[in-house]
Amino acid sequence: MIQKSVILNFPRKLVDEPLVSRVIRDCDVEVNILQASVTPEEDGHMFVIFKGEPANIGRALDFLKERGVRAILPVKNLVRDEERCVHCGACVGQCASAAFTIDKDTCQVVFDPDRCIACELCIPACGYGAVESVSDHLKRTGEAS
Ligand code: SF4
Ligand code: SF4
Repeated sequence: MIQKSVILNFPRKLVDEPLVSRVIRDCDVEVNILQASVTPEEDGHMFVIFKGEPANIGRALDFLKERGVRAILPVKNLVRDEERCVHCGACVGQCASAAFTIDKDTCQVVFDPDRCIACELCIPACGYGAVESVSDHLKRTGEAS
């Protein structure tokens, strides 16, 4: 049994769907909702903790992805949003533990969560909002409103 923090962002067309109850019932995963912003007028956002067997949590994440939900898994207090990353490399110079590095073959910036020591020096270095603290991410996406 493991626990995983997950930020769920889903389009407004899914706001009426019982996604959380499907995760609980069909995937056998407990869901603890820490913050949520769900209205018919806007996209939905949730910060949850999944608790269950690793395979079941994997099934839950696959199910949500298939339904069009974007799940972001924070590392320590860090949210790395790959869709916002332009691979400028500014974070690499700040990261003393080499959690952020540049892949020589692809010239893409890659992130190794196991090497991250949570110093958070990369957050102000990123001008694209591709690395944020969990609280800043939640504020930006409206979950904390
Ligand atoms: S500083 Fe931000 S945009 Fe640039 S490579 Fe790092 S995460 Fe990506
Ligand atoms: S929090 Fe620190 S160790 Fe982790 S990726 Fe950012 S700069 Fe590197």
